[in-house]
Amino acid sequence: METKAARALKGNYCNSITQYSRFVTREVNIGGVVMGGEQTIRIQSMTTTDTMDTEGTIAQSIRMIDAGCEYVRITAPSMKEAQNLAEIKKGLAAKGYSTPLVADIHFTPNAAELAAKIVEKVRINPGNYADKKKFEEINYTPEAYEIELARIKKKFAPLVEICKANGTAMRIGTNHGSLSDRIMSWYGDTPKGMVESAMEFIRICHSMNYHQLVISMKSSNPKVMVQAYRLLVATMVAEGMNYPLHLGVTEAGDGEDGRIKSAVGIGALLEDGLGDTIRVSLTEEPEFEIPVAQALANRYQNRKSIAEDAVENPDFDIPKDYSPYEYNKRTSAELNTFIGGHQVPRVILDLSKTNLKDPNILSPAGYIYSALLDKYNMGDQSIDFAYLGDELPSFSFPGNLKQLYNHQTWLKLQNKTNCHPLFSLKEYIQTSEKDKALNLVFVNHDDLDSEDFAALPFDKTLVFVLETDKEHGMANQRAFFFKLMNAGIDVPVIIKRSYQFDETEAIAEKELKAQLYAATDLGALLLDGLGDGIWMDAPQTSSKFIVSTSFGILQATRSRISKAEYISCPSCGRTLFDLQVTTQMIRSKTDHLKGIKIGIMGCIVNGPGEMADADYGYVGTGPGKITLYRGKEVIKKNVSSENALNEMIDIIKEDGNWIEKEEVN
Ligand code: SF4
Repeated sequence: METKAARALKGNYCNSITQYSRFVTREVNIGGVVMGGEQTIRIQSMTTTDTMDTEGTIAQSIRMIDAGCEYVRITAPSMKEAQNLAEIKKGLAAKGYSTPLVADIHFTPNAAELAAKIVEKVRINPGNYADKKKFEEINYTPEAYEIELARIKKKFAPLVEICKANGTAMRIGTNHGSLSDRIMSWYGDTPKGMVESAMEFIRICHSMNYHQLVISMKSSNPKVMVQAYRLLVATMVAEGMNYPLHLGVTEAGDGEDGRIKSAVGIGALLEDGLGDTIRVSLTEEPEFEIPVAQALANRYQNRKSIAEDAVENPDFDIPKDYSPYEYNKRTSAELNTFIGGHQVPRVILDLSKTNLKDPNILSPAGYIYSALLDKYNMGDQSIDFAYLGDELPSFSFPGNLKQLYNHQTWLKLQNKTNCHPLFSLKEYIQTSEKDKALNLVFVNHDDLDSEDFAALPFDKTLVFVLETDKEHGMANQRAFFFKLMNAGIDVPVIIKRSYQFDETEAIAEKELKAQLYAATDLGALLLDGLGDGIWMDAPQTSSKFIVSTSFGILQATRSRISKAEYISCPSCGRTLFDLQVTTQMIRSKTDHLKGIKIGIMGCIVNGPGEMADADYGYVGTGPGKITLYRGKEVIKKNVSSENALNEMIDIIKEDGNWIEKEEVN
């Protein structure tokens, strides 16, 4: 039976918001490795070597392929690099590697046209293929816009013809932040602008009967990226198209931040059945991207549209104040000036299985105990609730850390200051002994139809802790939120997810999966404005890991900022400095600047556009030369790389945004 929820989204961005259902796209054959349709989600990455370094590029490509990379992208900024792709291809073939190659093109149609005769796929950026960006604000009339489109077609059509003649595929890859002046003047730097930027080129291909297309909508901000992909699918469907999707978060950065940011954006879309190939873009060696991408994609290899795992009673409407294309935080009641409403999402950590005799147990939770002063220092990543279950600590907790106890244990506490009870739904219905401030109640989606839920006394102390044991749990929890919204229930909701892995797996593997899965499941809901708190439960990992993952998810979804953010490009053959070393150097001096976004880009060609909404930019302009930006404005040109970081710090100081590191407590 077709449900209301399915009907509401039909012709929109995905097949179902309650069952897992892959959005089946058109198959595209890229050098024998087919993408789209029912094919597995393909994994790809990009070399970081100089394309003219034939041997280096071959060696790096082989490391990527051996790690599991199914398409290798190589930058071709000009004719000479495009030509050298033939040598790289030959060298790989001589070593027994036939993995399809993709040429990455910006600004240079002649390089694209040459590369399209050599490699299996070309990637163009519609923001700069036919246009040199001048950051001009031109008011295009509809007539002037049409003339522009005709001009683009003239420039772009030869490439399409070459691709058709050679069986070469093409990715039309829009990047937030590098949209053409024409798109900017009509749509602005918005998801709609990103979609239209690609659609202009897609429509030209369509009109020329060329369909070997793959589309991407990348941004370093997962919220913008997810909205843009959804809007792209809805737009394609409305125009009778279903080209496969290449998913990625650009300039995601390195380490934990890069992995979490990528998982939030890519995972949110995979959950809704979108995505045919993924690239996790990290400022690390490209072969390190592959296991991350595989861990994300493998989660869906066996996820079927399992009827028994679907939402029970799925016949509900999409709430009228929810849109998949724009962010609106769900309206919830603010309790105790602490949770819900406009408060930041709260973080809960389970400490019930730890040694509650030692105050140092709280340091991974962000509370550093000084025995000398007998006091705690709080950091920017300090948890808000500690779940202690039935365990009583033998030391005093910090005043601003709330303790959660199972109801029966809470009843027995002598001093209940800062201590709150946690109930099952039934316990809560039956008890007359509640807390005056906050009562947390475990619920799951199926409870919504129960008699107990119908009997719930709603008041301004109630907080739901939403659990799920379903495989397709994100959709299950989202359905819970939608039903609450439709019923006008504004109780704050803490989203809880639990992860348990095979004991035989190495700890690093368990941590990677826990991090990616939590970023997907919790991140997807937060991106849509759902959730007043998160509780990540992964007992096979450490408290420190859970806390930094939880705050990383909140940072990536921009729902709670607790640290500086780095929008660093993954580097490629154009890169003018060692991105990994430079990113670490900048991070070591600035990571205490909570809320500041710093773009670190390897080249001036794409860097300024791709660092999107960074507050400050550090961009390579030549060997040993860096240009510094405030937002999109150039502040200092061609500074020597030895002084560039100090000069950037001076700019931050001039803006009053600098604090000394030791002042941070
Ligand atoms: S910004 Fe970085 S990844 Fe992008 S083209 Fe320049 S060097 Fe390459």
